[in-house]
Amino acid sequence: MHKDNQPLVFELSREGRVGHSVPVLDVPEVDLASILPAQFIREEAAELPELAELDIMRHYTALSRRNHGVDSGFYPLGSCTMKYNPKMNETAARMPGFANIHPLQDEETVQGALELMYDLQEHLIEITGMDEVTLQPAAGAHGEWTALMMIRAFHEANGDTQRTKVLVPDSAHGTNPASAAVAGFDTVTIATAENGLVDLEDLRSKVGDDTAALMLTNPNTLGLFEEDILEIADIVHSVGGKVYYDGANLNAVMSKARPGDMGFDCVHLNLHKTFTGPHGGGGPGSGPVGVKADLIPFLPKPVLVKTEEGTFHFDYDRPQTIGRVKPYYGNFGINVRAYTYIRTMGPDGLKAVTENAVINANYMMRRLQPFYELPYDRHCKHEFVLSGSRQKKLGVRTLDIAKRLLDFGYHPPTTYFPLNVEEGLMIEPTETEAKETLDAFCDAMIQIAKEAEENPEIVQEAPHTTVIKRLDETLAARKPVLRYEKA
Ligand SMILES: *Cc1c(COP(=O)(O)O)cnc(C)c1O
Repeated sequence: MHKDNQPLVFELSREGRVGHSVPVLDVPEVDLASILPAQFIREEAAELPELAELDIMRHYTALSRRNHGVDSGFYPLGSCTMKYNPKMNETAARMPGFANIHPLQDEETVQGALELMYDLQEHLIEITGMDEVTLQPAAGAHGEWTALMMIRAFHEANGDTQRTKVLVPDSAHGTNPASAAVAGFDTVTIATAENGLVDLEDLRSKVGDDTAALMLTNPNTLGLFEEDILEIADIVHSVGGKVYYDGANLNAVMSKARPGDMGFDCVHLNLHKTFTGPHGGGGPGSGPVGVKADLIPFLPKPVLVKTEEGTFHFDYDRPQTIGRVKPYYGNFGINVRAYTYIRTMGPDGLKAVTENAVINANYMMRRLQPFYELPYDRHCKHEFVLSGSRQKKLGVRTLDIAKRLLDFGYHPPTTYFPLNVEEGLMIEPTETEAKETLDAFCDAMIQIAKEAEENPEIVQEAPHTTVIKRLDETLAARKPVLRYEKA
């Protein structure tokens, strides 16, 4: 028996109990050995739990109640944009005309789906200020890598093979240096200045004719807008490098500012963040990439084109393409959800999203500022980063604060990130939360700050109310339990 009295599914099992009823066999039974090679036939039956359908439903429903998701509670996980995903998206994605088509179907039979993809590309072109978009990449990191491969192909086409370096600020999301490395580049770290923005002097000293690109998020991972962005782009362009926009967190600027107008040459978007694809359980995602004109020849193939007759088809005749980056044409279901979201929100709706995301973050930042260290005290965009350094002096770590929040029913913020903030707590409320929710979370954070002063043990030993107490942070990843062993 588990310590919280919820039996394992194997413990609920009763020999011979079944969860199905099928008609009695009215054809001769087939001997497996006559149709399968011997090495594929089990000697003993697999050890599977035997339960009735109702038992299974109750078991999984009970387990699901212990999950934390956006639909069950506030989830201010910085940089992840855990906003509410409208259920209308699900209705659209489940329409048989979308859900039941096959990616190998003839183009003529899926014109509606292709039109949706084409229209979505057009919307993303408009939103990003780019000249062309591909929907192939399966998620953000995949989009980063796709864009870097295009930048590489671009430089190689110009005979610029000495461009081996990609510049990445020290506050960048971890996927940025990782994508650069996988695309075959060496990464060079750019320092953050005292005000939390890119250190221009450091950038100037590191660009040169070996620079392939600069990868930048704007607002950066501290939630701060890089106000020198035009100058930054000029510095990189002046030496022949490309400027890449990590648009995973477009929620901060969508419909207000466009990467294409800030000097960026290419961008990836996370449709599963900003454009309400459900995420957090491991996918699927969608990470479209937008590019300016001079990178278009290198787009992954096939490229979706609209003919003069108004029909849609895939163009494979792309001599300079980096090739296909995904089987089929992208994670279509997530693209349907993003399209539904864009169309139901409309331009004014998307603008309101950005405004409310930014107002919510600034409201919380100012409410919490008296109780936690705010390393960069300036207006933030969609998120902000606090430091638990004051609490650390009292023996309470940021990890403890995160665990204590579980007792209040909240998913904790992102912790210890970005790396240039000591004991970082990165909070992203998103626009879909009401003021009451923001206030209740701030009240909990303020109470925890007081507990750290008056009764630190309660924070250090948290969580107290969850089914499972403190877990070993790395054991589950290093030693996953693969098999149930009977006691
Ligand atoms: C989430 C995120 C990514 C990576 O996106 P995935 O879809 O998880 O690969 C990259 N950059 C930033 C800034 C992000 O927030």
